[in-house]
Amino acid sequence: MNNNVCELCIENKDDFNYQVADTGVCGQCIQMNECMDLDLIGTYRSHNISDSDIWAHLPRLRHAHTEISFHLTDKQINRLIERFKNEKPPAN
Ligand SMILES: [Zn+2]
Repeated sequence: MNNNVCELCIENKDDFNYQVADTGVCGQCIQMNECMDLDLIGTYRSHNISDSDIWAHLPRLRHAHTEISFHLTDKQINRLIERFKNEKPPAN
C-alpha cells in the first residue's frame, strides 16, 4: 500500500508542504516526484511535532519505492516518535 501523494495529484494544493515532502513514487500517478504521506505527517502533527522537526529528525514517507527503497510499519513509526519525544522535550 503506497500512501504517497505527489504535488500534482494532491487534492488540495494548499496541503502540499515541501518541508515535509520527500522524493518517492506517488501512489496515484506512479511517477517519481516530491510526495507527501499525509497520514504520516498528520500523525506527527498530532504529537505536536513541528514541520521543521519532522524535516530534520523523522522520515517523511513510510514508503520510498526509490532506489533507496524502504517501508516503515506503523509500529516502527511509533517507536521513532517516542524516541524523538524522549530526546527532544517540547519547548515551553
Ligand atoms: Zn502523483
